[in-house]
Amino acid sequence: MMSSDVLRQLQKNLAEIDDRIHSACERSNHAADDVCLVAVTKYADWHWVECLAELYDHFGENRPQQLADRRGLLPEINWHLIGQLQRNKVRTVLENACLIHSVDSLKLMSRIADVANQMNVRAQVLLQCNVSGEESKSGFSEEAILAAASEGLFARESVQIQGLMTMAPARAPEFEIRRVFSGLRVLKDKLAETLQMPLPQLSMGMSGDFEIAVEEGATLVRVGSRLFDGLNS
Ligand SMILES: *Cc1c(COP(=O)(O)O)cnc(C)c1O
Repeated sequence: MMSSDVLRQLQKNLAEIDDRIHSACERSNHAADDVCLVAVTKYADWHWVECLAELYDHFGENRPQQLADRRGLLPEINWHLIGQLQRNKVRTVLENACLIHSVDSLKLMSRIADVANQMNVRAQVLLQCNVSGEESKSGFSEEAILAAASEGLFARESVQIQGLMTMAPARAPEFEIRRVFSGLRVLKDKLAETLQMPLPQLSMGMSGDFEIAVEEGATLVRVGSRLFDGLNS
């Protein structure tokens, strides 16, 4: 596809997603300004990513190396890490990502704190929670996160916890997805109270369920496939 066609299609898809976010905000009395779309580029052709960069500036990748490589080429974009992070990639990610959505264990939290401290930066992170309790999903359980918080295990100077992230079960009925998202919101409020600090961010919702997520208070929605609809390599 020619760049002009790719641009036109991306513009159309972005506008449609934006409209849907606005409508979901109106239905639920949330401010649309409080919702940030993270354009998930993990499966997108490089050519599409370059075109998208002319229209938008918050991108998400799930692999640290691809995030670093792509940031090298598009340094003006705000890159979010949304996928699993191995301990040996922490430095790479701290050098390249504006926000890590996927801190899923105390060991990883501690490693990030150590590396950020060495680098003299303050890491910006979200704690990933497994609200649905599916065994295949990583992340803190509600009990584990609240226990760790009351034991002071998240109190690290070099890490700023901005909020929580979760994934709803794929192909679940709407009421079940909604329960996961509202569960994350409730957990965030409890955690904020335990930690005695504000937690502004809730990262939840993907192509299939971002409207439900916005209705339930998402501030970051991670949308990939929907954004690249109608494009072909
Ligand atoms: C891939 C991915 C997304 C985007 O998924 P789509 O269904 O393509 O919108 C969102 N969040 C995470 C963690 C992902 O890995």
